Amino acid sequence: LYVEHPLGEGQTVPLSRDQAHYLFGVMRRGAGDALLGFNGRDGEWLVTVQEASKKGGVLRVEKQTAPQRNPPDLWVLFAPIKKARTDFIVEKAAEMGAARILPVQTDFTNSERIRQDRLQAHAIEAAEQCGGTYVPEVTDLQKLDRLLQDWPERRQLMFCDEALAGAAQNLGAVGGPAWAILIGPEGGFSEAERARLHALPFAHPVSLGPRILRADTAAVAAMTVWQMTLGDWR
Ligand code: SAM
Repeated sequence: LYVEHPLGEGQTVPLSRDQAHYLFGVMRRGAGDALLGFNGRDGEWLVTVQEASKKGGVLRVEKQTAPQRNPPDLWVLFAPIKKARTDFIVEKAAEMGAARILPVQTDFTNSERIRQDRLQAHAIEAAEQCGGTYVPEVTDLQKLDRLLQDWPERRQLMFCDEALAGAAQNLGAVGGPAWAILIGPEGGFSEAERARLHALPFAHPVSLGPRILRADTAAVAAMTVWQMTLGDWR
């Protein structure tokens, strides 16, 4: 269970109405039950339900069961597509251990707005379900151009370019601890964007194979490639 409060032995944590509904209504837990809690900072803790009601409740923090585990420093940049597919990308990025998820506006991105709060809630749910102790931050929609202009020093960019179709690139040889993956929208990247991305010294164009994948498939494929070559289980 994800909670926002600090976690430490003997502390009590109040539950929101939504959390109480989920725990006591949906999951059928009640007073005295034990659960695992995390807040994205203090590791994983055994917590027990002290008070349970439909409107709220209180947890008591018992003892730490695992230290804080942070994912590798991977950002996932993607152009939001249809609602369900955008939700899918955020959920999978959180499951696969992205440290930060950044929706970006590209030349061919359709949406002007996203529901950042909803996407952040999806990331929390995904982190809860995969037993992580870390929740990636989902940022608000920002222009890709701007982001590239203020690009952090020493962060490498795996630029997934559908036009490369099958040309392998050895990312492992590039190395480095801080990375980002960039996936384009359904319409792909514009010629101007592709030219700009190819000219950036920190951008490494990568093919995900000879077929054109949908953006949500490409996101999962790219994160898998990254995990195998540069991630935390090499
Ligand atoms: N409209 C584009 C076209 O027909 O050429 C296809 C865009 S694709 C649906 C969406 C995004 O997924 C691309 O911008 C790219 O980032 C990624 N992608 C899809 N297939 C890929 C591949 N084989 N290699 C690298 N990236 C790929």
